[in-house]
Amino acid sequence: MTRIATKRRQQPAGPSSACEDKDAAEPAKAGAGEREPFWRAKSLEDMSEAEWESLCDGCARCCLVKLEDADTGEIHYTDVGCTLLDSGACRCRAYAERQRLVPDCVSLTPENVRGLDWLPPTCAYRLLAEGRDLPWWHPLVSGDPETVHRAGISVRNRVAGLEDDFSVSGLMERIVRWPRSRHARKGASK
Ligand code: SF4
Ligand code: SF4
Repeated sequence: MTRIATKRRQQPAGPSSACEDKDAAEPAKAGAGEREPFWRAKSLEDMSEAEWESLCDGCARCCLVKLEDADTGEIHYTDVGCTLLDSGACRCRAYAERQRLVPDCVSLTPENVRGLDWLPPTCAYRLLAEGRDLPWWHPLVSGDPETVHRAGISVRNRVAGLEDDFSVSGLMERIVRWPRSRHARKGASK
């Protein structure tokens, strides 16, 4: 197996967010007169930059190291984080410099999102690209950036370490299935 591209987009800045991505600072809510919230009313291509950025739920699942089976092409998630991941905050520690420091960190765009089959099934970009709605725990739906953590969707408290601490064989021993699950933690609620 070999390591493949990992990526994440930053959570929108909100009252309890430490996000440094100023371009994402505008909360993306349904505007006055809009009958539907923007993520239902607009295609991915038609969203503003702030709306697009705000779709990221801050789960950081995409910042987990993934391994690709060289024979089958199958992609396996590990519970090991990218070298820049702050696994408690579920944030990149150097978002502005991430593509210089981690060249295989992929930025999502409306053009590439439909082709990235390694995105977790809970990822808002993937959900909308597949014609699905956002779930109750998504911060845009709940209005609370903590629900993604309470629902057990984020990587908080589930990361074994960062990739620098693992050999390739060590990474293979850290393959896990939970990042591929759609389900919220049992009993989790708003
Ligand atoms: S998996 Fe999707 S929603 Fe979660 S952090 Fe990555 S880009 Fe954001
Ligand atoms: S460089 Fe940052 S955004 Fe990219 S995968 Fe690593 S922690 Fe995530």
